[in-house]
Amino acid sequence: MRAAVVGAGPSGFYAADQLLKGGFEVDLLDKLPTPFGLVRAGVAPDHPKIKSVTRVYDKTAQDPRFSFFGGVELGADVSRDELLERYHAVVYAVGTASDNRLGIAGEELAGVHAATDFVGWYNGHPAHAHHRFDLAAERAVVIGNGNVAIDVARMLMLAAEEVAPTDTADHAIAALAGSAVREVVLLGRRGPAQAAFTNPELRELGELARADVVVDPADAAPDPASAAWLASDATDRTARSNVEILGAYAQRPAPARSHRVVLRFLRSPVELLGDDRGHVRGLRVAVNRIEAGPDGGLRAVATGEEEVIPCGLVLRSIGYRGEPLSGVPFDDRRGLIANVDGRVVDPAGTPRRGEYAVGWIKRGPSGVIGTNKKCAAATVERILEDRDAGRLPSAPAVDRDATAGWLRERVPGLVTWAGWEALDAHETAAGRPHGRPRVKVVRVADMQALIRAAVPEPAG
Ligand code: NAP
Repeated sequence: MRAAVVGAGPSGFYAADQLLKGGFEVDLLDKLPTPFGLVRAGVAPDHPKIKSVTRVYDKTAQDPRFSFFGGVELGADVSRDELLERYHAVVYAVGTASDNRLGIAGEELAGVHAATDFVGWYNGHPAHAHHRFDLAAERAVVIGNGNVAIDVARMLMLAAEEVAPTDTADHAIAALAGSAVREVVLLGRRGPAQAAFTNPELRELGELARADVVVDPADAAPDPASAAWLASDATDRTARSNVEILGAYAQRPAPARSHRVVLRFLRSPVELLGDDRGHVRGLRVAVNRIEAGPDGGLRAVATGEEEVIPCGLVLRSIGYRGEPLSGVPFDDRRGLIANVDGRVVDPAGTPRRGEYAVGWIKRGPSGVIGTNKKCAAATVERILEDRDAGRLPSAPAVDRDATAGWLRERVPGLVTWAGWEALDAHETAAGRPHGRPRVKVVRVADMQALIRAAVPEPAG
């Protein structure tokens, strides 16, 4: 049996691996010429150990029943119907490419960006490489208290000599070296006990070489409702440790380094203020307090007090959001493919024959890379159940070679695994003399030219 997995990030690779184990032939398609999704274009460049997970994916790619086809965009190059005609199962592993917006006045001002754009930019994602970030201001505000907010704050605070040996895109290395940003304010709408940071990432913020971490002792102390929650069985260890770490930061001596990350809590963005050039000059925030909501959850409630934080760069880091795929049912409220336990369902809740979802587009943008392994395994279990119960579409009329030929016809710049390996070898060789893991090629046309030169067509 044959399966197409659309999206070659972690969840796509884990699904491919499970499907191979279940006896399927797998074609893994990606919009980009390169595999690995957010491992290549999301994980912060100063976290190379996390990126070494790609060795696991390389192993999956060695299976003779596996093929990679890069440069294939679902909806543009091939349609959902065409895939369903050719495969017994189609698995969407497309991730959540978009981001949540604040929905406040001033969001269109120059200098206000999605953190996802900034992440894509410093990681050399072809769709984000052209962005320009004005790093001339002394203070930047990062809105949100998740790990992406920590990543972007840390990247803004690293010294040039810390960024230089990483696989940060060359354009970003140059821009960050000239950055005037001395202070990053990390802004949470709720308190320390509700922060979404994980403990190692929050600790790492306190170990930066040239930046102090600053927490106001008044901010670090949990409010009464949070203190009660922390003392109860309902709490989790991560939240308790976060509060401890933040409490220890609040006890640190006055900042002495050239740069600082200031964590501020109980502040909701209300309006972005612009100067006469249409560039952001500040953020008006409402001061909140924590209250137990009707569902028992602890929510932020405005006190009526407001403040303005002057700044020249704002990165909103308030969560990713999925984008609909043509012809695939979408749950607009959650920003995900409509699915029940990985089976794509129509609006009446009936499973669609042969269509499945894995990873962030199935369950939302949460968890670490390894979370996607479990998630993919659960979906593949459903696929195997459907196969065994005869619920998958009947055998496709075209075989593996015919499908590869069809894709080659559709996509002139089609990239195979051999093509990716050639690009990978080029990037790593370019990095070696500089002690860098790789020098990323960031333009798709350049990637394709390098691959064409290295791998004569047609290549396996
Ligand atoms: P996240 O963990 O969901 O955090 C989103 C943050 O945005 C929360 O603090 C949330 O606050 C806040 N927020 C949402 N709407 C807001 C609004 N309108 N105004 C102000 N704040 C708002 O999302 P993420 O940081 O994008 O991370 C996504 C996933 O990737 C997470 O599972 C994360 O752990 C993972 N990740 C892991 C690493 C790592 O392991 N090193 C690195 C990066 C990302 P509320 O709680 O109040 O809603």
